[in-house]
Amino acid sequence: MVQSAILGFPRMGVNRDLKKATEAYWGGKISQADLLAEAKRLRLAHWKIQQDAGVDVIPSNDFALYDHVLNQIQDFGAVPPRYTKDGLDLVDQYFAMGRGHQKNGIDVPSLEMVKWFDSNYHYVKPTLQNGQTFKLADEPKAVAAFNEAKEAGIKTRPVLVGPVSFLHLGKADRDQTVEPIELLDALLPVYEQLLVKLKEAGAETVQIDEPTLVFDLPAKSKAAFKPAYEKLASLGDKIPKLVFTTYFGDIVHNLDVLPKDVYAVHVDLVRNPEQLDEVIGALGPNTILSAGVVDGRNIWKTNFKRAIETVETAVQKLGKDRVIAATSSSLLHTPHTLASEKKLDAEIADWFSFASEKAVEIATIAKAVTEGPAAVREQLEANAKSLQARASSSRTNDPKVKDRQSKVTDADYKRKSEFPTRISLQQKKLNLPLFPTTTIGSFPQTKEIRLQRNRFTKGEITEAEYDKFIEKEIEDNVKIQEELDLDVFVHGEPERNDMVQFFGERLDGYAFTTHAWVQSYGSRCVRPPIIVGDISRPAPMTVKESKYAVSVSKKPMKGMLTGPVTCLRWSFPRDDVHQSVQAEQLALALRDEVVDLQNAGVGVIQVDEPALREGLPLRAGKERTAYLDWAVKAFRLSTAGVEDDTQIHSHFCYSEFQDFFHAIAALDADVLSIENSKSDAKLLKVFVDEAYPRHIGPGVYDIHSPRVPSEQEIKDRIQEMLAHLKPDQLWIDPDCGLKTRQWKETKEALVNMVNAAKAFRAQY
Ligand code: GLN
Ligand code: ZN
Repeated sequence: MVQSAILGFPRMGVNRDLKKATEAYWGGKISQADLLAEAKRLRLAHWKIQQDAGVDVIPSNDFALYDHVLNQIQDFGAVPPRYTKDGLDLVDQYFAMGRGHQKNGIDVPSLEMVKWFDSNYHYVKPTLQNGQTFKLADEPKAVAAFNEAKEAGIKTRPVLVGPVSFLHLGKADRDQTVEPIELLDALLPVYEQLLVKLKEAGAETVQIDEPTLVFDLPAKSKAAFKPAYEKLASLGDKIPKLVFTTYFGDIVHNLDVLPKDVYAVHVDLVRNPEQLDEVIGALGPNTILSAGVVDGRNIWKTNFKRAIETVETAVQKLGKDRVIAATSSSLLHTPHTLASEKKLDAEIADWFSFASEKAVEIATIAKAVTEGPAAVREQLEANAKSLQARASSSRTNDPKVKDRQSKVTDADYKRKSEFPTRISLQQKKLNLPLFPTTTIGSFPQTKEIRLQRNRFTKGEITEAEYDKFIEKEIEDNVKIQEELDLDVFVHGEPERNDMVQFFGERLDGYAFTTHAWVQSYGSRCVRPPIIVGDISRPAPMTVKESKYAVSVSKKPMKGMLTGPVTCLRWSFPRDDVHQSVQAEQLALALRDEVVDLQNAGVGVIQVDEPALREGLPLRAGKERTAYLDWAVKAFRLSTAGVEDDTQIHSHFCYSEFQDFFHAIAALDADVLSIENSKSDAKLLKVFVDEAYPRHIGPGVYDIHSPRVPSEQEIKDRIQEMLAHLKPDQLWIDPDCGLKTRQWKETKEALVNMVNAAKAFRAQY
């Protein structure tokens, strides 16, 4: 029979229960025991959902209190020494690596956290030492989770990040020179011990994730697959059977290192259906194919007909016993359940499927193939009907939008003058000092803000009352910035719940949900709006607040928008129209907003594109070039409508520019701010090498953690940057927006930042 399998389930729970519990624990409001009990309750609930859906293969150890890679860093004894020296218990040590720890005289920053492939999930980077050794934890989480499920009567398939991916996704610690992949021999014994323990606990199969196989791998990483999997194969029956798992791309270019003697190989056939034949051709003689046919990254109902055909194609070649029908990736990237959405209109709700519904889908698909379509006739008919309704709905098509798109010309992508002309006009108008200081946009989203927003949403206060409240917040933010003596102000974004959802709610063509949260990092969740149809802007979206901010402020005020690519990437996009078309529609809507802001007296406008990088196709080549072309164009289309003396900023939450620099430069933004505090300032060298002419503010401190950087630390950072950047092109700012921080640490950090900038100003 064809089994159904899920590669991972969202962790947060129906009501973001995990977020609430971890944050309560961090705030000292619940005990560690309470936190762990809640985590256990969630794991059991999620297994039960999958079991009730009829799924054959249910994952365990996909759960994590913060991040699954961090789980492994800790369980493999790859904890950098700065986290072990203070005697924190294991849970606090774990969170210290995830988010830093600054309490009771202990002060350690977090480990670097970066995007998980091209998703909006972030993982903690394994951070390795010269001569790194590994040691399996006494109670590895993978074993504990498997046993926990077993006790509840649920047999699971534990999930591990495989050895090559674990190392490839890691890095040498600061000041260390080790090449992570060279630690393979040191690492493999830990896998061996862990797999033996899992086998002893009763695990028959283990999902071993090697998604890095979809990359264009450097030779050393690629060469590591063979010895790693030969070693594991040599353990024979001492370890569970391995399901070698890839996702988010095709593996055709790396098939020569695909292990032949693993039990199963999983591939993502939603993203790359075309790889099916070649992958089948490269399987070992007994290897099973796990066919990823239910999208783990999106919320659209699966097209049953297409998915079943794909699985059947595999069955024809391999037979029913050598095919598993699976989700394309972990369902981590989808919301928990559609059942929580009480406000979605029925027409649209019928087009969606979230994690809990996808569990039913994958079971249905497996059943259709195993027993024949008659066994699930009703489900197939309902599915076909719903897909048909979506395709023909008037909600998806707006002729006015299409007409405007057809009229875009080359001139629309270009500012009036080149940068030198622009910057001198801007400087005349703005009159900024050397090393201007600014922030990235948001200020702490306090309890009070959330409370008032909630009351407004529930209709407990009127719009006028809410607007008054927001104005007061803006005024307070301006006052604080005056006291801090920052140079370019922001209004602080108090009216925004989220940088994309906020815009989604103000644009036509979007649907938004009440509960469709997905984990971004740690306890942080986002609720991506859903693009359901052609997009347009019925009315200005941010002008009211920005105009008010200008009116209460004596210094330049920066207007704040989310760029077209980020709006697209952090929404659930349509799957029936190319993403470039959706990006252009967003760009045109934003272009009108940018011009409206300018005309309302906002002289500096920041268009954030933190998601530009994550959208980059994982492999170099045609696909990547095409993406960069439309993504850059969308940004330029959205910003190029302004006068020369309006200063366009853009912001990026990453600093890995190596394969990306030219695209960033092509945006033609007057000022860039980038997340940089946790990366090596050497990365900035590319700006020198490429003679980047425009302004840039590499973040001088990390905002993901409550830790306050000292003035000296920030000075050191600026000094490092000045080794690569010219003084008159350098801005001083934090890594990112401050909405997740408290005011206390925010003010303390900004005081230090402004003082550091002033100290340099005095020297030049
Ligand atoms: N302007 C946004 C903020 O400050 C930027 C956030 C981001 O880059 N992720 O919150
Ligand atoms: Zn950012």
